[in-house]
Amino acid sequence: MPSPSDGPAPGSATVREAAAGATSVPAAVAVREVRHRYGRGADAVTALGPLTLDIPAGEFLVLVGPSGCGKSTLLRLIAGFERASSGTVAVHGGAPEPGRQAGVVFQQPRLFPWRTVGDNISLALRFAGVPRAERPARVEELLERVGLTGTSGRRTWQISGGQQQRVAIARALAGGKDLLLLDEPFAALDALTRERLQEDLRTVSAQTGITSVFVTHSVDEAVFLGTRAVVLSARPGTVALDIPIELPRTGSEDPDELRGLPGYAALRAEIGATVRDAAR
Ligand code: ADP
Repeated sequence: MPSPSDGPAPGSATVREAAAGATSVPAAVAVREVRHRYGRGADAVTALGPLTLDIPAGEFLVLVGPSGCGKSTLLRLIAGFERASSGTVAVHGGAPEPGRQAGVVFQQPRLFPWRTVGDNISLALRFAGVPRAERPARVEELLERVGLTGTSGRRTWQISGGQQQRVAIARALAGGKDLLLLDEPFAALDALTRERLQEDLRTVSAQTGITSVFVTHSVDEAVFLGTRAVVLSARPGTVALDIPIELPRTGSEDPDELRGLPGYAALRAEIGATVRDAAR
């Protein structure tokens, strides 16, 4: 498979045009006329498409939609875990490759439980080619960014589910990746932990400007976290609504004040109504 520096993949005039995009900010991710099907013949399931989407650098895109509409499929295509049945997906103008361009966070943290917090992150830094001598300082920086300063020596089974998910986010950020793909990362957490992680992720996103694609069922989570929401229709998922979320975003907003803004309620209502229509 080509590396990002190898340039666009075969059939890539379209990929190049897509990456150039119509907007002034180049797209970090360009999805063009993508359809995806699982299986063959009578058992085939068309999960997604046709779908066309540009995700500019620095955007926090939330993908919302009814269960089974293809949200995770789209994320897996951008991560390079699957190849689209037709159409093209480009990340920074090249074909996506697993583990190369994007850090991925799943619903379960998927850490090595017998290793320490620091070792789990250090391993990702090693895969990213960070020299051994630089790794301890980078581990500390990443832990600080996700609010886990001082936990490097703890075993992952000794920390809470919320803390484990913070480690998973730190690991996804390791190696200086500038694209974060998150598939319902907070869905398995209790409500309070989930809110804390949402607040911290919003702060990290606002302060680093890392491009993110975040899959969720929750309309409130979508409005709270995103700079843009895309609602997918029922399977096969196509774009039912594509709307900017223009709320204050310095990273230091008070969450309650943010949720109290009239614009917040209006976005919740519009996105919620579209999701309900899509689920019918
Ligand atoms: P969502 O994330 O929106 O819930 P998914 O992308 O997981 O939706 O799935 C979209 C559709 O594709 C669903 O109907 C699901 O059952 C089907 N699907 C997902 N993965 C596979 C697979 N590996 N094999 C067959 N069908 C699949």
